[in-house]
Amino acid sequence: MVDTLTPAQRSERMSRIRSGNTKPEVLLRLALHRLGFRFRLHGRHLPGRPDIVLPKYKMAVFVHGCFWHRHAGCKVATTPKSNTEFWLEKFDRNVARDSRVIEELEGAGWRVIVAWECELDSPAKAAAYACEIAGRVRRIGAA
Ligand SMILES: [Zn+2]
Repeated sequence: MVDTLTPAQRSERMSRIRSGNTKPEVLLRLALHRLGFRFRLHGRHLPGRPDIVLPKYKMAVFVHGCFWHRHAGCKVATTPKSNTEFWLEKFDRNVARDSRVIEELEGAGWRVIVAWECELDSPAKAAAYACEIAGRVRRIGAA
């Protein structure tokens, strides 16, 4: 097969593919869709605007960035060495908001799933995560 792309063109094309389809949130969405789930994106009327909403199961899924939302024990959740005070306050606010949002949703009868970006950084991991969600949904159905 004749390769008609210059290396620059190829790398440009690859980066476009990457930015479009390998974001953890997109990977999880694709994997859920493949399992037959139908969902809404960014439930605007819900606290915290969950990234993926499965109305049928009253399930809200957040895909949290490990750095901003402070994934405990994650290597991505570093603290910048300069302006440390500023960052710590910012992180505290993010974490406090996250738990408030989860409480509000659960209080309204929603099941909340928090997925971390590092758990979804490949299509295989996203597929495994989607299967876990499917398992939870089956348990709800059986209950
Ligand atoms: Zn993480």
